[in-house]
Amino acid sequence: MELSSLTIRNFRNLASVDVAIPSTGVVVIGDNGQGKTNLLEAIYYLVLFRSLRGAKDRELVRFGDAGFFVAGEATPRVTAGYEIHHRHKKVTVDGTEVKKLSSAVGVVVAVALSPADRALVEGGPSGRRRYLDVLLSLSDPHYLAALAELRAAMKQRNAALKRGNVPEAQAFDRPVAAAAATVAKTRHRWALEWLHRYGELCTSLGESSEPGMTYSSRHWTPDGGADLVAENLKLRIERDLRRGTTTVGPHRDDLLLTLGERETRRFGSAGQQRTAAIALRLLEASALSLSHDTAPIALFDDVFAELDEDRQERLLLMIKESLPGQAIITAPRDAEVPRVLFERPRWRMTGGKIEQ
Ligand code: ATP
Ligand code: MG
Repeated sequence: MELSSLTIRNFRNLASVDVAIPSTGVVVIGDNGQGKTNLLEAIYYLVLFRSLRGAKDRELVRFGDAGFFVAGEATPRVTAGYEIHHRHKKVTVDGTEVKKLSSAVGVVVAVALSPADRALVEGGPSGRRRYLDVLLSLSDPHYLAALAELRAAMKQRNAALKRGNVPEAQAFDRPVAAAAATVAKTRHRWALEWLHRYGELCTSLGESSEPGMTYSSRHWTPDGGADLVAENLKLRIERDLRRGTTTVGPHRDDLLLTLGERETRRFGSAGQQRTAAIALRLLEASALSLSHDTAPIALFDDVFAELDEDRQERLLLMIKESLPGQAIITAPRDAEVPRVLFERPRWRMTGGKIEQ
């Protein structure tokens, strides 16, 4: 997967960018606060049509402007525009506006690595669920559909709970349970399928304890399936009614990461958590390469800073394997970028402008 050119208008501090991107990628050097992360966020917007950093669309619009526009020339060309006033988002693929955003998700595939990824390991379960949701939505259209069904059924059940109408809420137990079971089953299978690779990546990155990764669900088991979720919904109806929301389902689950059987989130050192986060991103790259039959575009946001030379070298080897395609690499200084990655053209970013 490659982007041959990029057009950006009024996206954060990037007023106007028109660049051709070499097929190997580029190294982008710039001081703090100049727009390097914004550039990667703009590119990643073409993957999910949402902010990489979880920001709202209107926050992405350059201060004082009415909307933003991003276009990338891949095969095919993908564009995304957003207008604050009408809260209107328009996405086109190959010149045609898509009716459903979901049909354009994953046309461009990229994987972004940044030091902020440590939150993925260190933070609460919601970040890890989002990781699974993004990855599985990009690689499995059935998953995206199940997720949408779950959200729709859950929304109606919650609305009935808020009105205090139990029979109406319980009328949605079956649809919620069915979609919930599909979501949980897909996540569970994915964790099983990629456990070995996760371990390999952690070990190759320098981790010496035995890494583990399992999907942990409170209300679902592979044997129990949708029936078990339905049973749990029924059991917890009083609590749900009190809280006015559904407390049973995969929105309570977690992807459990361990080292030597201890939770990395609670017991891992800062370095171990960073290693686990990098492993998750490289895992994402491997999984997407397999589902899309092409290497995702690599977006490296200041990834090599703070790593000692040994870890840098190990990471470079893993990148060569998992993300061999086009790479866009940012750093505040040349010295923060390993020398082997400099076999690419260099851009300088100042105040949202690119100098080639
Ligand atoms: P660092 O090296 O510190 O990570 P960076 O080059 O990655 O820096 P960015 O995060 O890309 O910096 O850009 C930050 C700049 O973008 C800040 O100066 C911020 O004020 C500006 N910015 C953020 N959102 C907007 C927006 N909606 N409109 C205009 N400018 C914005
Ligand atoms: Mg940055």
